[in-house]
Amino acid sequence: MTVFPRWTLAALATLSFSLPASAQTDHHHRHGSEEIRASRWVQIHAKDKTERTAIANEGVSIEAVRSDSVWGFATPDQLQALKGKGFRILGSFDFTTGRGGHQGGFDFPAKDAKFHNYAEATSALRMLASSHADIARTISIGKTIERRDIWAIHINTNPDALMSNSSSKPGILYVGNHHAREHLSVEVPLMFAQHLLKNRDDPKIWALLDSRDIWIIPMLNPDGSEFDIATGSYKYWRKNRRNNRDGTFGVDLNRNYSFGWGTGGSSKDTSSDVYMGPTPFSEPETQAIKTFVESQTNLKILLSFHTFSELILYPWGGKYDPIADPKDRAIHEKMAKTMAGWNKYKPQQSSDLYIASGDTTDWAYGDRGLISFTFELSPANTGGAGGFYPGAGMIDKAFQDNLRPCLYLLDLTDDPARATTNRPSIFLQNYVAPSLAPEHFWN
Ligand SMILES: [Zn+2]
Repeated sequence: MTVFPRWTLAALATLSFSLPASAQTDHHHRHGSEEIRASRWVQIHAKDKTERTAIANEGVSIEAVRSDSVWGFATPDQLQALKGKGFRILGSFDFTTGRGGHQGGFDFPAKDAKFHNYAEATSALRMLASSHADIARTISIGKTIERRDIWAIHINTNPDALMSNSSSKPGILYVGNHHAREHLSVEVPLMFAQHLLKNRDDPKIWALLDSRDIWIIPMLNPDGSEFDIATGSYKYWRKNRRNNRDGTFGVDLNRNYSFGWGTGGSSKDTSSDVYMGPTPFSEPETQAIKTFVESQTNLKILLSFHTFSELILYPWGGKYDPIADPKDRAIHEKMAKTMAGWNKYKPQQSSDLYIASGDTTDWAYGDRGLISFTFELSPANTGGAGGFYPGAGMIDKAFQDNLRPCLYLLDLTDDPARATTNRPSIFLQNYVAPSLAPEHFWN
């Protein structure tokens, strides 16, 4: 029998304690179909990005990269295929037999009540916008596959720009929750919106608000997130809730963008956690981002929040080549390095981890020319799937770690190339962020 290090056993214990009972939930009955959920949480030996990419190419969703191995979700077929290619499976844990949780919860477990479900995130955004109606508005940028509105908060000090959704000021988009189970990626952009508006009287913050066009979409994948918490215990759900009509559900929204779509690190297998979808932009959620970004021609920067591993990633994700344009490459590298100085994350080109094609930032940069980053929020790479559910205590830390980086991007929105000069900040020289306000507790 293979001997696992102690942290593996700890992770396993956490899993068996918190996993859902079985595939038989109210949700499935409502949809009238059985769902195939065959993925297992696995550890696979891999020594470098080439091997990690080969694993991703089998359709495994790699969630944590260690020096000698990766952790992720894989189906039995994928594991067979990998074994056939000589990969060593170091650990494989069943996700369907775990017991526990709160059946009939339809919300976060009580200990994680501080996280916002869809209704709470929606009402928090509405309350925030209505409290600052002169400079903020909530807008639906489209509907999900289950017909939920995808809410954006638009912050702009020009009333005409607010009403028309169009501004001549330089624009930035912060988006969270491409992946359902990455709930912390909703909280950070939501708190950032709250921070900007509640601190509008701070002259430095006001200077930014008054000169930038700011869009924040905290919850892109509410269908998936609601499904993830629908039984009161977590389902480790990643994708959206597309019915693939073969007993499986979901497309990986962060493999569904068109730039380099389907060229590696994603899967055509509908049961895969990294299923790319039948066509690029096949999903209403990614389509909403596409339509939105294409309509906002003033956008200069995009930041997409994910969890976990404490990384700052920049293009390319779909290929090993670095960004060809030396100026753009220098901007991404310098910005990533600067932000890492604050949040202590590791800055790197996305494909240094493994190839992942069809992601948001490759499209945003490759197709739209936006300076684009992915943040993989806390915790650091622990090797356990529990990293998706670090507890409500992680919310304030993740926000505090990333407030300064988020403001820095906002400061540079007018001209990202300033990052490479010796005067990167216009408004935020010597800026000291105020301590955390209790605004987060409103729902
Ligand atoms: Zn993610």
